[in-house]
Amino acid sequence: MQNIDWGKLPFGYFQTDYNVRCYYRNGEWGKIEVSSSPQVSIHMAATCLHYGQQAFEGMKAYRGRDGRIRLFRWEENAKRMQRSADGILMSRVPEELFHEMVSKAVRLNEKYVPPFGHGAALYIRPLLIGTGVQVGVNPAKEYLFLVFVGPVGPYFKEGFNPVKMQIVRDYDRAAPQGTGHIKVGGNYAGSLFASERAKAEGYASVIFLEAKEKIYIDEAGPANFFGIKDNTYITPKSSSILPSITNMSLMQMAEDMGMKVERREVPVDELGSLEEAGACGTAAIISPIGRIDDRETGQSYTFGKEGEAGPWSTKLFKKLQGIQYGEEPDTHGWVSFVD
Ligand SMILES: *Cc1c(COP(=O)(O)O)cnc(C)c1O
Repeated sequence: MQNIDWGKLPFGYFQTDYNVRCYYRNGEWGKIEVSSSPQVSIHMAATCLHYGQQAFEGMKAYRGRDGRIRLFRWEENAKRMQRSADGILMSRVPEELFHEMVSKAVRLNEKYVPPFGHGAALYIRPLLIGTGVQVGVNPAKEYLFLVFVGPVGPYFKEGFNPVKMQIVRDYDRAAPQGTGHIKVGGNYAGSLFASERAKAEGYASVIFLEAKEKIYIDEAGPANFFGIKDNTYITPKSSSILPSITNMSLMQMAEDMGMKVERREVPVDELGSLEEAGACGTAAIISPIGRIDDRETGQSYTFGKEGEAGPWSTKLFKKLQGIQYGEEPDTHGWVSFVD
């Protein structure tokens, strides 16, 4: 194994020793297989390649000061993957199988779980794909569920520093009654053009508006959006947003800290009155947003002191990371161990 500089890990693919796989054939899930190959061999007419039958999850394993490895709310990922499977007619991965395979992938690659103290973690990528052959548009009869892992550093190179985001109006990520609420690759395909353009124009990410009315904030690229004002944590409610487990946890924590929590439509116009803004998801946990530019209207919104994350965002970030790494009491039973 190469020497890993744990403090300088990027957020990207990292080859580890093993991945874990299971096939669904003849109406049932088979035995768990361990592979040391990063390659998957599938039929060229597999539905995942043609008709987008694929869903994924993103989780992290955190090593505490005590050396023990922790998962954060894995049941929520398992349930969400079942909703994704239901949404595009794939076979559901049973919760126990999901947990067993995630745990196994972590255990087998234990030496790649970053030591405590670098803000690094082992990223876990569960993936469900249609492997059955179809040429007409039909759901597959065979599926592959696999889990691979790799050590990662912070998602945005800025770390916990405010990023710039861009509101786009000429692209939509998902339709109001489409697949925005499930974690399927198609949503990402639909978001690539706008987000690469935003990056080329100097932004960390793009902010999509709710596609029908184009008045409300929807999704902050691959993350949920939240704003804070008057002691209130505000996050958009929409049928095309992916329900983030990080956001769900932040809402609970905000309430625990005595804040008010509002999950409702958030008009772009309201941005001007927010004291803090941020994006949240497993990859970055919280990315504070310092500035949002509206690409079409030219309107700009800034939040808090320049170059500094706001006090509530900082407090929420530290607390959530504290729970995940075992430094803060786990009052809601969100953490489980991989031993
Ligand atoms: C995965 C994802 C998120 C974040 O969800 P977490 O459960 O917090 O990791 C947010 N938005 C989109 C579009 C996603 O795919």
